[in-house]
Parts: sequence; structure tokens; C-alpha cells
Amino acid sequence: MSKQYPLNVPAPHHFTYAVRDLPEVTVEQRERALQATHYNEFAFPSGMLTVDMLSDSGTTAMTNHQWASLFLGDEAYGRNTGYYVLLDTFRDIFERGGEKNWKKIIDLVRTDCRDVEKMMDEVYLCEYEGGLFNGGAAQMERPNAFIIQQGRAAESVLMEIVRNILAKRHPGKKFTIPSNGHFDTTEGNIKQMGSIPRNLYNKTLLWEVPEGGRYEKNPFKGNMDIEKLEQLITSVGPENVPLIFTCITNNPVCGQAVSMGNLKEINRVAHKYNIPLVFDTARWAENAYFIKMNEEGYADKSIAEIATEMFSYCDAFTMSAKKDGHANMGGMLAFRDKGLFWKNFSDFNEDGTVKTDVGVLLKVKQISCYGNDSYGGMSGRDIMALAVGLYESCDFNYMNERVAQCNYLAEGFYDAGVKGVVLPAGGHAVYINMDEFFDGKRGHDTFAGEGFSLELIRRYGIRVSELGDYSMEYDLKTPEQQAEVCNVVRFAIDRSRLTKEHLDYVIAAVKALYEDRENIPNMRIVWGHNLPMRHFHAFLEPYPNEEK
Ligand SMILES: *Cc1c(COP(=O)(O)O)cnc(C)c1O
Repeated sequence: MSKQYPLNVPAPHHFTYAVRDLPEVTVEQRERALQATHYNEFAFPSGMLTVDMLSDSGTTAMTNHQWASLFLGDEAYGRNTGYYVLLDTFRDIFERGGEKNWKKIIDLVRTDCRDVEKMMDEVYLCEYEGGLFNGGAAQMERPNAFIIQQGRAAESVLMEIVRNILAKRHPGKKFTIPSNGHFDTTEGNIKQMGSIPRNLYNKTLLWEVPEGGRYEKNPFKGNMDIEKLEQLITSVGPENVPLIFTCITNNPVCGQAVSMGNLKEINRVAHKYNIPLVFDTARWAENAYFIKMNEEGYADKSIAEIATEMFSYCDAFTMSAKKDGHANMGGMLAFRDKGLFWKNFSDFNEDGTVKTDVGVLLKVKQISCYGNDSYGGMSGRDIMALAVGLYESCDFNYMNERVAQCNYLAEGFYDAGVKGVVLPAGGHAVYINMDEFFDGKRGHDTFAGEGFSLELIRRYGIRVSELGDYSMEYDLKTPEQQAEVCNVVRFAIDRSRLTKEHLDYVIAAVKALYEDRENIPNMRIVWGHNLPMRHFHAFLEPYPNEEK
């Protein structure tokens, strides 16, 4: 072996060669914009921000290979080439058990394969059934994979069809849908179908901070609390729990990872009570990375190998493909061919033949809202960029750098003395617990986390997202649901877009704001209090903090 020359800093694995300049904006200008947009963060002009960490959804920097792939996109209305490529990319990563089994049919497109027989055999006419992505005629006979342009649209298609089926079978009945942590749009979709969302995780563990702020191994704080899950199912009755969700990584619970052991357990409990398990998988690749780095038995496995095992435990999944660095647009809804979701939501004749296939109902909804199954609301070029992005998310070095950036920010806050930083960092973001940040002095009706977020925009031009009392609608919940709310703000870090300089600026700004936290205003809602997912559209107004 040749001599090694180790350093105490990691070697970089990418560089940037497209640059976007930022304007110089004053506090007065930002104040004017805040007033003009009713203090709604989503309405603040991004062109006036210095660092935008509102979301990592669709905001990623694409790689050169993704940009190049746009030209391979085929905008045909029926069976564009990207349709085959995307479904097979999913099969490669979620079903084939690692790189060694990848077919990578995208490479046939990249190399302009003109052998029509080969393309027919390996791309156009391949038959697949029994998994999450039927292919060929099987996908027409039993549709089970739906390209949909983003995660919430996939959720809404799923929820609407589930609601219709349940309402027909049990008119007027209210259902409970538990999760380790429902995302805000998932909760919104569940509430709009008249069901009750529940979030079952371990809050005490979540707020724990280790000595010195650093864990040796990630403790998987995103896990579902299995005991609470069984208790809930037995107390409301399994017939009143039509679905169990699991968010991977657990975005509303501070982006925390979920262990393979926990996924296995959730699957066991769900199947014990005959309830289909649905993954909400915006950040499956980061979760696979955390499993590799922290869970016994996975150190030698690749992200793709781990992803295959993860997805073997679900009966269906919804996916926002705008995270993890996949692409700027994309989403997916799929269920296992002839699996538990299909069995529970299809109707059968007495002789066991299918009367109504739930996949056909989902496809009708997909077609009526998002276009046919070849593209589902996406352009052909976006589909290609997404396929490339999915493969890139399996790259260890990329994930390693991404998670390291999150750690840098979280530990930066911690070392600066800011209270309430959730540790370890999530895979895509850093969260601060606002109850602790404000020393427990602000009530749940003050929306001080939103005050914090708006003050960060006003003073420093940094936009983050409040995912606590305001966005999660604390005041509209039952006491048991209120106990499940994390009163946090989230600093999202998108793929390869922010530099260490950005993070240092954010650390300095939050430190300064923390030291002056008494002067952060509270907020009240002046319009849109009861609107579904109100944080996207409500109007707010600051009022001074007068500590009681
Ligand atoms: C972003 C996200 C969604 C919604 O997806 P969009 O693509 O933004 O519509 C759903 N669930 C989770 C966990 C998410 O992070």
C-alpha cells in the first residue's frame, strides 16, 4: 500500500461554476416589504433576501449532468422516453438491492441507442409486476405507480380516493391516521378528508442535548414510538385506523432519522392489525445515509442497498422528489402490486375477482388533475433531470457533505450559546426549539417563533420557516394533539447551494438575535386564522413582547 497523507479536514467533492449575485438590501427596504406583504414569510420577495432557508423543496442546485439531461427530455404526450427511464430508476434504487443490479436504462438514452430491438426489450416493452412499479401491460391492467409533480399533490390524490372509499363504506365515520410526524401538507390533507392526524414520537428524547452538544452515534430521534402506536390502535380500534404514515426522514420532528429497526417494527405492528403502511419519503436517501453511518450491520452497505430494504417495509409511498437534491420538480405515488393497500382499498366480487381496483381510481384522479400517467404534471425534461438526481442521491460523498453542512450549522449555533438547538442536526435542516430559545417565557398564543422568523428577515435578510405553534395550528388542536407539536423553526439547507460563508453569516445573525431575544416581537393573526394550512396565506401583525 502506498503512503497516505491524512489531513484533519475533508477533501471537497464538488465545485460551483454558475453564480448568482445578490443585491444589497437595507433594513428599511425589508421593513417596507414586510408591511406590504402582511408579514407573511411566503410572500416576501426572494430577490430581496441574503440567505433563503425557507425550504429545500425544489430549491436545489442541479449538477452539470442534470442540466445536460434536460436536452434528453422528450416532451411527447404519450409514453415519453423519460417515463420508462424514471420508473426504472425507481426500480433500480428501491427494488434491485444495490448498484450491482442496476439496469440504468438511462445510459441507453444518454448514448443515443439506435438498436430498436434492444430498446424494445430493455426499455419500451419490459413487463414488471409484484413490486411498487408495474411495467408494460401490467401497469395498464393494475396501475400502481403515478408520476405526480410534487409531494403534496401525490398526498392529495391518495387522500381524496381513500376518503371517497371510506365514506362510501362507512358514511359519517371519523378516522385516525397516525405517523411518526405528519408534514404540514400531509396534516392538511388528512384534515381536509375529515380524519384526525396524530404524531407519535418521543418528545423527551428529541429535546435531549448530550454533553458538549455532540452525539457519537445518531440516536434516531425520528423513530415512531411503537408503544404509543399500539396503544392508539387498540384504543380507537384498528378498524378506525385506515392507514399508518411514516415520514422518512422525519421532517416535522426536526428532520431526524428513522432507524431500519423502527421501520421493521412499524411494519410489524401495522400488519398485525391489517393496516397498510405508507411512507412519506421526501428524504429517503439521507435516511439511508444515517442508517449506514449509525445502525449496526449497515456500515458496508450502499445507500441504494439500504433504500431497497427500507422500501421493502412499505405498502405504499408518497414522495416529494424536490428534496434530497433530486430535482427542482417531481413527485411520486406508488403502492405494492396486490399488497395490503391494494387489498384494503379495492372492491372484490364474491368469486375474488376485482370489482374496482383502487389503482384505477387513483389513475382517474391523476389524469383529471395532472395529465396522463406518462408525465403526471411534469415536463419531459424535468423527468430526465429527476432520474439523474435520484441516482446522484445514492452517492455517498454527496450525502456526506450535505449532512456535514447541517452539522456545521447546528454545532455553530450550539457553540455560539444559542439555546434550543435540536441535536444532532437533521439531514436537510437545523431546528431550534422556540420554547427553549425564549426561556419558556412566551405562551403558545404569542407565535413568538414566527416573530423570530420575521425579525430574522427584517434585521438580516435571512428567511427560515416556522414549523411550530403557528404553522402546526397549536390553538386549533385537541390537548393530546397539542402535546405532539414541536414548537420549532427550521433552517433548511438545500443541495450544494449554500457555502460556509452563508452558514457563518446565519450563525452570527442568530447569535445576535438570541442575545436580544427580549426585543423580538410576538405576532398575531389578523386574517386567515382558521384557513387550512394557514401559514401559506394568513396575514400577521407584530405586537411588542411585554413579559408578564
Ligand atoms: C416537502 C414535503 C412534502 C410536500 O412535498 P412538495 O413536493 O413540497 O409538495 C411532503 N412530505 C414531506 C416530508 C416533505 O418534506
